[in-house]
Amino acid sequence: MLAFLLLALTVNASFESGSLKSSEVKSPTHVVATIQGQADAAGRNYQPSWFYFSIGGLEDPAVKGREVTVDLAGLEGEYNFQPHDGSGDRNVHPAYSYDNLHWRYFDKTEWLEKPSRIRVKFKPEGERIWIARTPPYTLAQLDSLLRSIEGRRWVTVREFGRSVQGRPLQQITITDPGVPVEKKKTVWILARQHAWESDTSWVFEGAARFLSGADPAAADLRRRYVFQMMPTLDPDGIAAGGVRFNRNGYDLNRNWDVEDARLMPEIAATRKAVESWIAEGHSIDFFLTIHNTESADFLSGPVGAHGSHAKEIGERLNALLKSATHFSPTGGVRDSAAGEKAPGRLTVDRWVFEKTGAPSFLMELMTNPSPAFGRPALTSDRLNFGGALVRLIDEALTNAPASSSHYSTPMRERLNAYEGTLERWLQDDIVNGYAARQAKLWHRDYSSVEAYLKSVEPNRERYRAMFAIPGVKPTGAPHRRPFTRISGIRAEWVTVPLSGGITAEGLLAMPASASGKVPLIIAQHGIDSYPERVFGLEDESGVYKAYGRALVEQGFAVLAPMNLSSIERRNRVERLARLDGTSLAGIEFERMKLLLDTVLEDPTIDQNRIGFWGISLGGMAGMYWTPLEPRIKASIITAWFNHRRNKMAIPDTRYSVFLDTTEEYVFLRGWLTEFTDSDVASLICPRPLMVQHGKKDGIAYWPQVEEEFRAAQSHYEKLGFGDRAELVMHEGRHEIELPSGLAFLKRWLGANSGK
Ligand SMILES: [Zn+2]
Repeated sequence: MLAFLLLALTVNASFESGSLKSSEVKSPTHVVATIQGQADAAGRNYQPSWFYFSIGGLEDPAVKGREVTVDLAGLEGEYNFQPHDGSGDRNVHPAYSYDNLHWRYFDKTEWLEKPSRIRVKFKPEGERIWIARTPPYTLAQLDSLLRSIEGRRWVTVREFGRSVQGRPLQQITITDPGVPVEKKKTVWILARQHAWESDTSWVFEGAARFLSGADPAAADLRRRYVFQMMPTLDPDGIAAGGVRFNRNGYDLNRNWDVEDARLMPEIAATRKAVESWIAEGHSIDFFLTIHNTESADFLSGPVGAHGSHAKEIGERLNALLKSATHFSPTGGVRDSAAGEKAPGRLTVDRWVFEKTGAPSFLMELMTNPSPAFGRPALTSDRLNFGGALVRLIDEALTNAPASSSHYSTPMRERLNAYEGTLERWLQDDIVNGYAARQAKLWHRDYSSVEAYLKSVEPNRERYRAMFAIPGVKPTGAPHRRPFTRISGIRAEWVTVPLSGGITAEGLLAMPASASGKVPLIIAQHGIDSYPERVFGLEDESGVYKAYGRALVEQGFAVLAPMNLSSIERRNRVERLARLDGTSLAGIEFERMKLLLDTVLEDPTIDQNRIGFWGISLGGMAGMYWTPLEPRIKASIITAWFNHRRNKMAIPDTRYSVFLDTTEEYVFLRGWLTEFTDSDVASLICPRPLMVQHGKKDGIAYWPQVEEEFRAAQSHYEKLGFGDRAELVMHEGRHEIELPSGLAFLKRWLGANSGK
């Protein structure tokens, strides 16, 4: 019985960034967890600064409702060749989470001596708890940050080298490409040279998100600066749950005087990136590397160097950070020239200073409770700090007084707080208030298809009203122009002149030698794209899989309407549309309908077998159009379907959120009062619907897609049509999944053979 009870708690660190040497379950509610440190190549400087593991089984009857004790042991180590007994960790407050996503800190810890241990106690709030030195920041999170910002024209992400284990070292350049580089200053920011210092990655993300975002102050900075940002030099260490040394055992913030691209490829590659920038004739006006330490916030830099203006800039930044953020230095900027000069001990900031003379600093941010809060800084504090940091670097460099277009930082922090309360209030209503609105606004009757359609009709009318569809009429005969670039396929551009001088146009392709009537698929392209891509033309990335061509070859006619494709163009037209009481989405719906009317005049197309298949922005069109266009009998939504409330409004590292993009045109007024994706799907029901999503597609977190899809499918099931709603969850990225889509359309719409 005892053995059974002891098995209740299970300790695990086998996941990305996870780290623990060993664990011992002493009783059903007591675990001793021994930290896995890391030593350098010579077996010295053993540093046990990182732990990240989970304890499961907290809802086991032997544990549930009781207080659990965890002792963290193995704290003894060596720093800069000085052995220590771990007592420097006396004030460490570990972080914990019940979802491995949102992190808090243990308010209270106990310190046990000989040997040194940190003891934490907690009453479980879930089945599993994750415990870490500081809130982890994994390569997966970095990847999703990069994916969410790299589409913007002022953001460039490049690989500047590879780590010991061959992982890419990435550099993000953020600057306004419309301003010549020689008119701008360059600020270089480096984070996470040491794998355990995950808090620096949160700061980095905050800086990168601010600089790449929509804030006018960020646009102003982009016009005046080139930001060269390196998120980490040790991706191997992050993946492995490492501490301080690369996989060959070398400290990546020492050794900057050593040339060894084999043992330290990370340093060699970074050095080359900096040297190339200088060799190209560019400046470095400020350099910063960000680190974590236990118990002090400070800047260190070349403040004692003769003739350098680094002291002035450094002291100004130090004071600005102190007055406007949680950065809490106890004195001025420390002199980075102080201390040892032994070979193999040169830090990156000193190397940059010696190489370029640029004001180069190292920042330490404390992980112990901050004097500013009386608790350790939270991830939200670090994210905010990142944004403030780049603004204050600018203030320190320009010494500009606050002007009307340039808020002083304290005022900005006050605005941040106000904005935060507004955001949280609206987000809470959008997400948490949704179920109550849904219960009030949807009254589905599943007793028959007729009863069902009647019961959702008021919702459908409100959905239609949301688009404020304009009245547009054809004004003349359609214009048809052969299109011969799709080899072996008969195609033409069809243009319908409409009132007000606008047009509806699309590429129409017909199967070679169909007998009888053929079904038609409306194939809608995505953002930054055009109808030709649907047929595989100019599709370098290969996301379309030439699905339009495949459909034609299978006996379908294909109509690929041209929609307005770039974000900036859509935003611009949407502004005018709103002023005029309509919406771009509504205009495009009307264009599609009138184009379809024209195309259906061809007697060889079967009016009763019309389908839809769109990807990305084209998937959006499918979700807009299918509920409102009864002629569409079956739809495929690729790379768009989502947990709509989260996707629009809740920033999350697992998917890109529209709130953090510049895509204003997607924010339809009132959308999330009652039309999350599963509810929109219920307006397509009982017509067949397929959703395609790739697990590596950053537009959504795939388990949330599954959750939302299950909600959509339940409507079909209640009507007895469960087989008409199909989710294709594949292992790929943002792309068409061809075989399942073809099979779906053939199943529901049939297709004449090509002969
Ligand atoms: Zn460090």
